[in-house]
Amino acid sequence: MIMRVWYAFLDLLFPIRCAACGVGGRALCQKCLEKAPSAAETGSASISALYRYEYPPIKKALWALKYRNNRTPAEIFGTSLYEHLLEHAYELTTFSRAPKDAAVIIVPIPLSKKRLRERGFNQSEKIIEECKRLDKNKSFLFANDILCKTKETAPQASTKDRPERLKNIRGCFAVANPEKVKNKVVIVVDDITTTGATLREAITALEHAGAARAIGIAIAH
Ligand SMILES: [Zn+2]
Repeated sequence: MIMRVWYAFLDLLFPIRCAACGVGGRALCQKCLEKAPSAAETGSASISALYRYEYPPIKKALWALKYRNNRTPAEIFGTSLYEHLLEHAYELTTFSRAPKDAAVIIVPIPLSKKRLRERGFNQSEKIIEECKRLDKNKSFLFANDILCKTKETAPQASTKDRPERLKNIRGCFAVANPEKVKNKVVIVVDDITTTGATLREAITALEHAGAARAIGIAIAH
């Protein structure tokens, strides 16, 4: 509640503007979003991303989502993600061990209880909520209660080397409802992926729980 008042206060004091051209109203306007470069390959066939994280407007809009809880970046990135999902859903279900017509479930990377308490919301969940709103139960299932974070981890950015990051993240996810993912295709969504370690760990947990296939998509890489 206190956090919600704080975010509303920030929006009032510093109205949200396009991170690229400065026009008011959205964290990134449509024209500038279209100019945003696509993400490079992540190096893993199971993990992809939409936009290049180093492009400053993308970085700033994701920051506004995470630290200001502004509604507009969730709408912007949720819409991009939804279009991407529709475009790729067919190949996802075709090239997997999943039974034909297997449901595709979209799940967010969960935050730990502590982090969730501090921030008041999960930014990946916000993006998925927008996809759900656009989908109107037509193409996908959406679930927030499948993947949970069982271990507190240091922020990935603060752990310097790769082996350290992998150790930090190992075994940090559990699948709460394995029956919900059995023989299904699961897409895990994160806002930012750097090394892919977090998404890879989530994919492993989902596949161990019986998902026919799990893949990860991040908004930026
Ligand atoms: Zn703009």
